[in-house]
Amino acid sequence: MFKPQNLITEPTEIRQAISQLTTYQQIWLDTEIADWRKPNPRLSLIQISTDTTDRTGNSVYILDVLDKSDLITEFIDRIMVNPNIEKVFHHAQFDLKYLGKEQAKNIICTLKLAKKITKSRLGTSNLKLKTLARELCNFENVHKEQQGSNWGQRPLSKKQLDYAKMDVVYLVSVHQCLLKFIASEQQNLEPYQANTRQNDSYNNLFNATQLRVAFDCPRLFYLNYCFHSNTLFPSGNAINGIGTIFHKQAKEFINFAKTEPQIQTLFNLPAAQLERETIASQMRKLFYQAHFFPYLQTNIDRNQNKAPQLYQVWLGLTNLIKQWTKLLISNRNYYNAGELIERTFIKQEESLEHTFTLPDNSQQTLRGTFDCLVYHAARGRLCIIDYKTYDPIDPSSQLIQIAVYSYILWNKEKKISDCAVYCVSPKFKAYYYPWEQLEDTVHQLISHKLEEMTQWVNWEQGNPKPPPPTTSRNLCSICPQQEKCQTFFSN
Ligand code: SF4
Repeated sequence: MFKPQNLITEPTEIRQAISQLTTYQQIWLDTEIADWRKPNPRLSLIQISTDTTDRTGNSVYILDVLDKSDLITEFIDRIMVNPNIEKVFHHAQFDLKYLGKEQAKNIICTLKLAKKITKSRLGTSNLKLKTLARELCNFENVHKEQQGSNWGQRPLSKKQLDYAKMDVVYLVSVHQCLLKFIASEQQNLEPYQANTRQNDSYNNLFNATQLRVAFDCPRLFYLNYCFHSNTLFPSGNAINGIGTIFHKQAKEFINFAKTEPQIQTLFNLPAAQLERETIASQMRKLFYQAHFFPYLQTNIDRNQNKAPQLYQVWLGLTNLIKQWTKLLISNRNYYNAGELIERTFIKQEESLEHTFTLPDNSQQTLRGTFDCLVYHAARGRLCIIDYKTYDPIDPSSQLIQIAVYSYILWNKEKKISDCAVYCVSPKFKAYYYPWEQLEDTVHQLISHKLEEMTQWVNWEQGNPKPPPPTTSRNLCSICPQQEKCQTFFSN
C-alpha cells in the first residue's frame, strides 16, 4: 500500500504533529472534504506546509482526520484559535467552515489578497489557486482538480495524496508572489492605502515581536507589518533554522522531566550533596536515550542534510539542561524531590494578551507567547524565560519583548515576575532582568511605543513624517531590508 512520509494517520502521531505545528509563527493550509456534495460533509485531510523553500511537498504534513473529531477539535484549539500562528489559506472562508469558523484567529486569505490587486496588474486568467500557481509563480504541470475524487475512501490513492500535498506548496508560492507583487506596486510609487493593505491577520493588534522590532527600527517594523518583510538580522556563527526545532525539544525536555521517575530520583539527596555536572549529565543521558536519539534517527533518515542543525539543537539543549540543573538544585533547598519539578516548571508556551490604554486614550491590544515560566524559590519569584537560538545583535531589544510578558502577567494575575533571555546557541548566555528594573524602565515605555506604532502603520507613501529610521545606524549595514528601505522611504 502506498504510504508516503507526509501522510500521518495514527492519532498519537497526529497529536505530535499538532504540537510541532504550534511552534511555528506562520503556516500554510488546505483541506480536503469527503461527501462535500452531501448534507453532512466530513473533514478528510488537513494539509500543512511550514517551509517556504519546499517546491516538491516533501515536508508537507498531511493529517488524516477523517472521522477523528477529537483530533480536529485539538487542531482547532491549538492551531486555529492560537493568535500567535499566522494561518494562510486560499479561499479561507471555505476551509474555516470545518476549522473553527469565527473562533479562528490570525487568518490570511490569498484570494482576498489577490482581489486587492487590480486584474490588469495581476494579469492572470482568474483567481483560482492553480491558475495563480501556474500564471503567477510559473509552476509547470500543475495538478488537475480532484474535486470529483472520493476523499472518504481509505486508503487514498497516490494521485490524491500528491494532489493534496501540492496544493499547499502552490499556496506558499502564491502567497509569496502576491506579497512581492504588492511590495513592488509600492516601490513603483503606486499610492496604496496602508489601511486597506492590512489584511485579516492584523485586526488592530500587535504582537510582542513587532514591539521589539519597532524598538529596533520603526521602518523595519513598518515594512514587516505591511509586507511581512523578514526582520531577522544575520546571527554570526549560529546555524539558521533551528529555532522552532529547539523550542519544541526544550518543551519536550520539561514534559519528560515531569513524567520520568528516574529524573525525580536524581534529586533524592539533600541539595548540598547534589553535584551539578553529574546530575546535568544524567538528565541529558536519560533524555537523549528516551527521546532525542529516536527523534534524531527519524529525522536524519528522512533528510541527512539536517544533521548539522540537529547537532546544534542538541548543543543548545545541553546548555539549557545545565541551566535547569542549577535551578533545580537551588530549589531543592525548599522542596522535597517529589514536588521539586512541578514546583519549578510552572508553565510552558503560554499566550498572553492585554489591551493597553494609550496616552491619547485610544486602546491597543498586544499579544505574545513566552517560552517558559519557572519559579526561583530562593528569590521567591517567578521568572519568565525566552529562548533564543542566536546571540542577539542588541540584547536590550530582547528585553523589550520579554518585559511585555512580565507586564501582562502582572496585569492579568497580579504576579511579579523577573525575566531572562537564554541564548542557547552557539554559546550559552543568559541575560537576567529583575522585575524592579523592568518596572522602572521598560514597562513605562510600552504604551508610548504602541501609540507611535499605531501612527506609523497609518502612514502612507507620499505623506510627510514617515516612520523614522533606526537610531542604531550600525544596524542598517546588516539589515535584511536595507535595499527595500532605501527605495521605499526615499520615494
Ligand atoms: S536599513 Fe536601517 S533604517 Fe532601514 S529598515 Fe533597516 S535598520 Fe531600519
